[in-house]
Amino acid sequence: MNTATAPIIEIHDLVKEYASGAGPVRILHGISLTIRRGEFVAVMGPSGSGKSTFMNMLGCLDVPTSGDYHLNGSDVGRMNGDELAAVRNRDIGFVFQGFNLLPRATLGDNVALPMIYAGKNREERKARAQELLTRVGLGDRCDAMPGLISGGQQQRVAIARALVNHPALILADEPTGNLDTHTSHDIMELFTRLNREEGITLIVVTHENDVARFADRLVRLVDGRIDYDGPMQAWLDHQQEPS
Ligand code: ADP
Ligand code: MG
Repeated sequence: MNTATAPIIEIHDLVKEYASGAGPVRILHGISLTIRRGEFVAVMGPSGSGKSTFMNMLGCLDVPTSGDYHLNGSDVGRMNGDELAAVRNRDIGFVFQGFNLLPRATLGDNVALPMIYAGKNREERKARAQELLTRVGLGDRCDAMPGLISGGQQQRVAIARALVNHPALILADEPTGNLDTHTSHDIMELFTRLNREEGITLIVVTHENDVARFADRLVRLVDGRIDYDGPMQAWLDHQQEPS
């Protein structure tokens, strides 16, 4: 899908090692892939297979031990900390399992927070937060506090916050991990709408087929290597074949 559009992520032979008492431990063993603008990709794999490590590399939250990573055509593997921070704030929206909202700030202020770093003034921030909260179905809750809304609503606020600087890419690590099945589907439907209607590139980590099936493409990691990279439907069909 979307093979006609330009690559947003190009990774070649990405390796990540952590130091340990017994020497370096290799977590990612030379991952190569291309993700194009507008793709909706699920990353799956057993616990400990390197999904979060991989997402942290994609999100410029950590740097690879070796290998190439181009994001939007820029060689992020060669950037320093300040440059990476600028890329994160400008190009990437993050959504986490635990929502990560500031408990003492209103929903509107939570959504608008990344705009402060982007240098937008108060009126702009307020208008954009209102627009995005409306988009995720919480337009009348701008002044509410995070502790007074449900987990599903908190994740909607986090998605609105991720969108605030018009990112090309949204990275979500187990975004439905703390939500019940029904709410998980609502969140995945919201992601699907953002992907279809606005062409936002989405990469979502999950270990549930039921959540992953909303994506078009599956990248499956096992022990830090790509075990499957292809259409989601083909993989789901294969799972259902009698053995
Ligand atoms: P997943 O998200 O697929 O469950 P992770 O990427 O979190 O897997 O972890 C993959 C492996 O890397 C695990 O064995 C984990 O213990 C190890 N690991 C993750 N982060 C670190 C770190 N900062 N230092 C050392 N080992 C780590
Ligand atoms: Mg993880």
